[in-house]
Amino acid sequence: MSDWERFSRQIRFSPFGLEGQQNLATATAVIVGCGALGTVQAALLARAGLGTLRLIDRDYVEESNLQRQVLYTESDACQGLPKAEAARRHLLEANSSMKIETRVSDLNPENAADLLSDAGVILDGTDNFETRLLINDFSVRHGIPWIYGAAVGSYGIAMPVIPGVSACFRCIYPQPPSGAQPTCETAGVLGPVTSLIGSIQAMEALKILTGRAAAVRRKIFTADLWHGPVRETAMPPRDPDCPCCARRDFPYLDGRRAPVSLCGRNAVQIHERNRPLDLAELASHLNGLGAVRSNAFALRFTTANYDITVFPDGRAIIKGTTDIGIARGIYSRYIGN
Ligand SMILES: [Zn+2]
Repeated sequence: MSDWERFSRQIRFSPFGLEGQQNLATATAVIVGCGALGTVQAALLARAGLGTLRLIDRDYVEESNLQRQVLYTESDACQGLPKAEAARRHLLEANSSMKIETRVSDLNPENAADLLSDAGVILDGTDNFETRLLINDFSVRHGIPWIYGAAVGSYGIAMPVIPGVSACFRCIYPQPPSGAQPTCETAGVLGPVTSLIGSIQAMEALKILTGRAAAVRRKIFTADLWHGPVRETAMPPRDPDCPCCARRDFPYLDGRRAPVSLCGRNAVQIHERNRPLDLAELASHLNGLGAVRSNAFALRFTTANYDITVFPDGRAIIKGTTDIGIARGIYSRYIGN
């Protein structure tokens, strides 16, 4: 029992118990995105005694992350460490016996099988719908649960997806959102909200990883911690006509989206789906983040490193990179998806 002494407070909680602790010690979880949600999830799972954690993130720690991304330090930002690597170092200080694997990459249809197949649960720490739809496709196809979470401004949402049992993400969101979406870059985000949502995701993941999946709460949790309210609503039943979990069509996983293309020298064009955008609204979101010029036909937004031209059908040309992953990241950061 002495090996388990450090976990005595959660073993003492009878629904968790020693058996739950032993199950957790041999379990694997994957966190997709090590930002505000992902760092909270990782810290809680590491301290709880998870066996193996895989961290997927393509970004580097920046000073503006420190306000809410609880694992990182000023030193990480100064060194410009990859988030996955910085997280690994700090997590090992809290639990040196956990096995941690890091991938400095984005999750995409090509690497999904390699990165997700052995997961007991997948935790959403991403900032965009596109990756969530990919996770949902993988989860439903392979029967692996995942925990959705998102936060912007003072608002957050969390929801578990248990394939074959609960509604899936596409039962609830059949289509990606249309129009420009608020992002943490354009609308800001508060640390207590991301920590709350990351904690709820970690709690539901712990139930699954300890073999207590029956205890997962099939609820959609939403909270606006500035204005209120905080509430839970029952998840709707599975949609019998859901393209994903009923008809088993997995377009995001099978890579059947219209491609992102390299476009001239040092530019990437993103034109994956037709997505009407209100350019005047987008211009107001981007106000103060860089130079913005717009008319009815196009919006041009210039930052220190990139020049982004956005069209009313949602298409964008991002100059300043030939890396498709970076271009996608800039699109989700400033336009939202
Ligand atoms: Zn579904």
